[in-house]
Amino acid sequence: MHYLDHNATSPLRPESLSAVTHALTIGGNPSSIHGAGRAARAVMEEARERIAALVGAKPAQVIFTSGATESCHLALFGAAEGSLEGDGTKAAGRITRIFVSAVEHKAVLANAVRLAERFPWVHVTVLPVTADGVIDLEALRVALREGKGRALVAVMAANNEIGVIQPIAEVSRMVHEAGGLLMIDAVPAAGKIDLDFPLCDYMVLSGHKMAAPIGSGVFIVADGAPLAPQLVGGGHQRGLRAGSENLSGIAGFGAAAHVLSNADGERARIAHLRDHFETALKAAIPETVIFGEGAPRLCSTSGFAVPGLTSETALIGLDLDGVMMSSGSTCSSGKVAVSHVLAAMGVEQSLAACALRASFGWSSTMDDVHAAIHSLVKLHERVRAREAA
Ligand code: PLP
Repeated sequence: MHYLDHNATSPLRPESLSAVTHALTIGGNPSSIHGAGRAARAVMEEARERIAALVGAKPAQVIFTSGATESCHLALFGAAEGSLEGDGTKAAGRITRIFVSAVEHKAVLANAVRLAERFPWVHVTVLPVTADGVIDLEALRVALREGKGRALVAVMAANNEIGVIQPIAEVSRMVHEAGGLLMIDAVPAAGKIDLDFPLCDYMVLSGHKMAAPIGSGVFIVADGAPLAPQLVGGGHQRGLRAGSENLSGIAGFGAAAHVLSNADGERARIAHLRDHFETALKAAIPETVIFGEGAPRLCSTSGFAVPGLTSETALIGLDLDGVMMSSGSTCSSGKVAVSHVLAAMGVEQSLAACALRASFGWSSTMDDVHAAIHSLVKLHERVRAREAA
């Protein structure tokens, strides 16, 4: 089997697996004061420290959630609702404008739309991107200048479908000079590029994109940034997110973050695989299109299309050859739909219908790359033969 779908879910790395199994044997609740509870809490706090260290945050700023979708919801609804209770510090100013880049994940886009339906004083604007999928900074500048009220801007550190890295430092400067708040979805970027939490006010991470368990998420909030809890109950996590914590998921997350804090070698190895994949594919099928090729991209991700070979046909053929990829955004899925990311980049629909994504990670090998190329070339030849007949 050749698994090239790490942006969908990256299989548990051995370090995460052993942290998970250890945590499962503790059998205590981190909120309990007895010995088992204290042992559980120690595991949780170590994970919190490791995750904070990965992104340059303080441990107390890290909140555990059920995944990045919940974290995106908490960021948007929590910030908007929290801003109603401004206390004259950084939390002051009601959020009335939300700007989201057109290439954000649906977990951001759909929650932003829902928020505007619930809070009629909030206006949501989708910001355009360039043909390479990079946020249009001029459009952001104009948007921040026009209109009244505090802005919340959501920009992902890098895109999950095509890997294009956004100019976060520049975005951060513009947003904060305008008195706004910045939310960064760092899901596919975490561990692949260095992240600097102090550049933003809210950050979102997902365990299963970092080779930790599915169902473990993180939300990080800057000191003083507005935030109203969205899940209330017992006063877990400083009252900001109620519910007994998913200890094994958290332990696995912490272990993955710890490995990724020192992963320059792994990044270089993954980049080599990805680059070799693209070079070999273009050599074999010169009409191959690599999306976002002109922009800086994550080492892990190749969004591409072989014109004429539709995503659905390719995914089935690849799967029969034991190669697992996806057509782009997978979270939605099972089904192949034209990507909103490619649409925002102005990619023609006929080409977008051929979009595929190979995403590489800790377990990927050159053997996987060769198998994928071999299968794609075979599928492409079949398409050409059919066209010629
Ligand atoms: N944000 C991005 C960029 C993603 O790629 C995903 C999932 O693919 C999510 C958010 C949602 O993550 P989760 O599966 O942890 O809810």
